[in-house]
Amino acid sequence: MSKIALITGASKGIGAAIAVQLAEDGYDIWLNYRSDDAGAHKTAEQIKQHGQQCTLLKFDVTDEKAVEENLSSLLEKKVPYIVVNNAGFTRDSIMMMMDSSDWNKVLQVHLTGFFNVTKPVVSRMLRKRTGRIINIASTSGETGVAGQTNYCAAKAGLIGATKSLAMEVAKRNILVNAVTPGFIDTDMLSELPVDEIKNTIPLKRLGTPKEVAGVVSFLCSDKASYITGQTIAVNGGIYT
Ligand code: NAP
Repeated sequence: MSKIALITGASKGIGAAIAVQLAEDGYDIWLNYRSDDAGAHKTAEQIKQHGQQCTLLKFDVTDEKAVEENLSSLLEKKVPYIVVNNAGFTRDSIMMMMDSSDWNKVLQVHLTGFFNVTKPVVSRMLRKRTGRIINIASTSGETGVAGQTNYCAAKAGLIGATKSLAMEVAKRNILVNAVTPGFIDTDMLSELPVDEIKNTIPLKRLGTPKEVAGVVSFLCSDKASYITGQTIAVNGGIYT
């Protein structure tokens, strides 16, 4: 089994925490990000402190050609055991005010990005008859949120894609699961009223990126060998 994990959107936040956790678990990391060079290099340093290699892959997951250019030569030599589709962003507004570009951009990063990155890897995982794919969805995709029709549609779609792909590849021992974080303390929350939000969470606090990374680590471990097609919530009890 190759000890490589490919993580998208890992220059900061949840993706960076997952990359560092999987390095601690003994994986070399293929670290994708879009623009934050300083964040990506900082995460790479932390990975190296765990004695693992880090390959930085700067590309936009929505750009099919860029994904291919970055991954094809690497994939000729090695196939990651793990893919974590984490890259994402929000463009919130009520639907009456939302322009089509904000609708399309959000669907593209979460859904087309998942497709662009996963397809070339999973086709090679099938030959190896082993692998784990983890998709970072969101509580928003389970509950719906006013002001997030685009994001909720994308995340609900990602949960559907997770279940379908899990059925397609189970015969070859490839396990596909989604993780649905609630409110996690990252830059993504920078424009939200965090103190008000905390009161609505049964655990009365935000989650940490490390708490999401711990669940991803479990889903990639031998302990999770009979779990596929599932959606695992990490949300402080805000939705059950
Ligand atoms: P974050 O701190 O804003 O980090 C987002 C990451 O995604 C960055 O590394 C960013 O890269 C990357 N990214 C964005 N668009 C990209 C693209 N087109 N191609 C490649 N990389 C791209 O956000 P986060 O909170 O860690 O979120 C990570 C994931 O968790 C997202 O899918 C998000 O929807 C999900 N999530 C977050 C929360 C939360 O409360 N924070 C809750 C539920 C789900 P650069 O910065 O380098 O451009």
